[in-house]
Amino acid sequence: MDKLKIGVYWAASCGGCDCSLLEVNEQILDVAEAVEFLLWPCAADPKYTDLRGYADREMDIVLFNGAIRTGENREMAELIRAKTKLLVAYGSCAHTGGVIGLANLSSRDEIFETVFGDRKNWPQTESEEGGYRLRLPAFLEHLTPLSDVVKVDYVVPGCPPPREMVSRLFTALLSGELPEPGSVFASEKNLCDECPRKREHERISRILRPHEAEPDPDRCLLDQGFLCMGPATRGGCGAVCPNANMPCTGCAGPAGDVEDQGAAMLNTLASLIGTGEEGEDQLAAEDEILSQIDDVIGTFYRFGAAKSLLGRRYHERNGQAH
Ligand code: SF4
Ligand code: SF4
Ligand code: SF4
Repeated sequence: MDKLKIGVYWAASCGGCDCSLLEVNEQILDVAEAVEFLLWPCAADPKYTDLRGYADREMDIVLFNGAIRTGENREMAELIRAKTKLLVAYGSCAHTGGVIGLANLSSRDEIFETVFGDRKNWPQTESEEGGYRLRLPAFLEHLTPLSDVVKVDYVVPGCPPPREMVSRLFTALLSGELPEPGSVFASEKNLCDECPRKREHERISRILRPHEAEPDPDRCLLDQGFLCMGPATRGGCGAVCPNANMPCTGCAGPAGDVEDQGAAMLNTLASLIGTGEEGEDQLAAEDEILSQIDDVIGTFYRFGAAKSLLGRRYHERNGQAH
């Protein structure tokens, strides 16, 4: 049987997604037998010319991790799209922009000013040094998820994708039974659906951060005041964080029927805070509870700021095309 021709690529990425491919334990042996890697910069040393030399659609599938932050990221995404039959947004940076999408709260100039200081120290896309002409990829105005640049066939969410989701992908690849294009290798339901904790939708009178108290291991974390993103987050990881007594931070992105993960979570929270009674005093009490949230964007949009409705509106309002 012909081996599957597979590629793995990283754009604006931390490398964690590449490592996560190895987390499927012994399944990796079946994968290694069934596939031939045509591209994997983390493990080999391919050159651009190697990739350009492939015929169009020569690779069967490419797992693309990392977001689009530079001109090179964008160029590679377009080139890879041409060279593969199927493209997977692998990990939250490719899927929704990821943690690094929070950088979209600042303009490119603000980022350069913070990192390089005076404008004269900012990196140039072209310069001359010792008779050599040096070129750096352009740092784009915004970071975008992969699907903003090219068509994406599948998504494996997570930061990095948890073992359960990677295993779903490999099982489908090895059996040759891939789901319909557009599918996400996770659950359609939200995380609470697979969480073993007892949830009673209790009223929250105080917001707690993980270091402030030891959670009861059996009760829902949100009921106890810990901001667990489970109600707005796609399931499929086996609720690994709540099972480790930590709130879900939302890395799998919005649940199947949720458009904006942060807005959905804020909506859930709004129905849980306070005593449920009405009146001026109650509004003040609810404001006091909400003021205990330390980092609103980083909490509710930690992985999805770049793809969220809020993020897009923010740029439109500031006159920056997305
Ligand atoms: S999704 Fe997470 S692990 Fe993967 S590249 Fe982005 S930050 Fe790293
Ligand atoms: S909110 Fe979190 S802890 Fe509570 S049931 Fe949902 S996933 Fe579990
Ligand atoms: S519990 Fe939440 S943060 Fe943890 S791996 Fe699952 S989706 Fe990601």
